[in-house]
Amino acid sequence: MFILFGTKSKAKLVPDGRRGERRCGECNKRTTWVECVVKDSFNIFFVDVLDSTARCMRCTECGEDCAIEDWDRAQRRAQLDASQPSVTAASPRPQDSTPTPAALDVDKEFAALKQRLAQSKK
Ligand SMILES: [Zn+2]
Repeated sequence: MFILFGTKSKAKLVPDGRRGERRCGECNKRTTWVECVVKDSFNIFFVDVLDSTARCMRCTECGEDCAIEDWDRAQRRAQLDASQPSVTAASPRPQDSTPTPAALDVDKEFAALKQRLAQSKK
């Protein structure tokens, strides 16, 4: 038997929805994102049998969309990144390549321990 089925995806702008600016991974620039309702439907012989709607944020430049929760998370991370440089500038971190005095002490202790072990074997 031959069954004709298909899927459709329609996005509708939420008139009084959220909007915001964010860097888009698709178009690789800072764009405006708007809240949309995306309706996915599954049909057999052109009759819709299943559909689901989801809210998402959509890039107005390329149409890339992402779940609202993901968008919020990315926004928060971007805010954190933006506020961090002032914190790190106030307390510069020592370079990782130079061993700290504590690490040197551990090396010395370890060498002493090895010596003690070698002596106890005799
Ligand atoms: Zn985009």
